[in-house]
Amino acid sequence: MPSQGLLRKLAKKHGTPLLVVDHEVIRENYATFKRYLPRIQAYYAVKAFADPVVVKTLFDVGASFDVASMPEFKIVYEKIKDMPPKRRQDWIWDKIIYAHPIKADSTLRELDEYKPLVTYDNPDEIRKIKKYAPHAGLALRLKVPNTGAMVELSSKFGASPGEAVDLILEADKAGLVVEGLSFHVGSQTTNFENYVQAINLAANIFQEARDRGYNKMNLLDIGGGFPAPYDSSVKPFRELAHKINAELNRLFPKEIQILAEPGRFMVATAVTAVSGIIGRAIRDGKLCYYIDDGVYHTFSGIIFDHCHYHLRAFKKGAGQICTVFGPTCDALDVISMAEELPSNLQIGDLLYSRNIGAYSIASSTFFNGFPPAKITHINRTA
Ligand SMILES: *Cc1c(COP(=O)(O)O)cnc(C)c1O
Repeated sequence: MPSQGLLRKLAKKHGTPLLVVDHEVIRENYATFKRYLPRIQAYYAVKAFADPVVVKTLFDVGASFDVASMPEFKIVYEKIKDMPPKRRQDWIWDKIIYAHPIKADSTLRELDEYKPLVTYDNPDEIRKIKKYAPHAGLALRLKVPNTGAMVELSSKFGASPGEAVDLILEADKAGLVVEGLSFHVGSQTTNFENYVQAINLAANIFQEARDRGYNKMNLLDIGGGFPAPYDSSVKPFRELAHKINAELNRLFPKEIQILAEPGRFMVATAVTAVSGIIGRAIRDGKLCYYIDDGVYHTFSGIIFDHCHYHLRAFKKGAGQICTVFGPTCDALDVISMAEELPSNLQIGDLLYSRNIGAYSIASSTFFNGFPPAKITHINRTA
């Protein structure tokens, strides 16, 4: 994690608002994931922080990628197209899963030549894939409990357990190959039982498919959701990994390949935002700071990710509960109504916010003419 001194130096050099991406932390997060989940290949979910430099760092340490649009696909494909030749079918699946269950006809048409691995969860999608991407391999996305996840996804995607095997057999009948199952337990899942239940559910569906004569499934994709350690209430990753490993080893023989799609876990702790104070006012007796980054920009996760970020000052001073506003004209642009900050901060002073890598710049806009924060990459933590 970059020191306060380095953050200040970089802010001076590049100006604010600034995002500092520490690639050493990304590599550490990947190494942690592999150390505790050795059986699982990590497919980094590009949408969490869709930056080609981040993709390169993860690619270089051996990660694979989960994409959900053609632009994301192309970011990854740029990195892998020069890999030493292997059988094409092998390496595209080794490196990319197209994990959006709903794909436009035009997207499928574009994807087909790559013989991609794609997810699906309904009969219309089977017909679309058959027509526009007949060379794709399929993974059925299951609906699983998202209890207690910070961001829940189960209402939008996933076949229910009762219809799962019908959908597998229907794809088979259409001449497509269902390679396995996938699910997502909800983002920032601190309720580890979600994984246990989902893995058990998937094992039941593997069994039911075999009982009904379908034997071609050879992969299980346990999705994303791995929590970032935002605060001490998040139990250690090691504990989650123990539970996942125990269930996988009990229920899935070694021949079944296990994939996961961690997004947040890889990048959340790797990014720090540095912002500048552009105004201050006392409103209804409360000190308000206006800064040059806000919820339409790096702090978009407050809205879209249901996430809270803490701001810290570099300068010392007696603390006070303040309101912190973003720079736009919209009253929605509030970063916090209750942030403890020194009361003596002046225009031009800097604030910083750690652990802001996931779903932050990812959903930044140009609203009101304010551009997204600049991004700077560091490779060694000073
Ligand atoms: C967003 C998403 C992910 C990443 O989720 P995290 O909670 O960030 O790990 C993985 N898989 C799919 C299908 C997603 O939609």
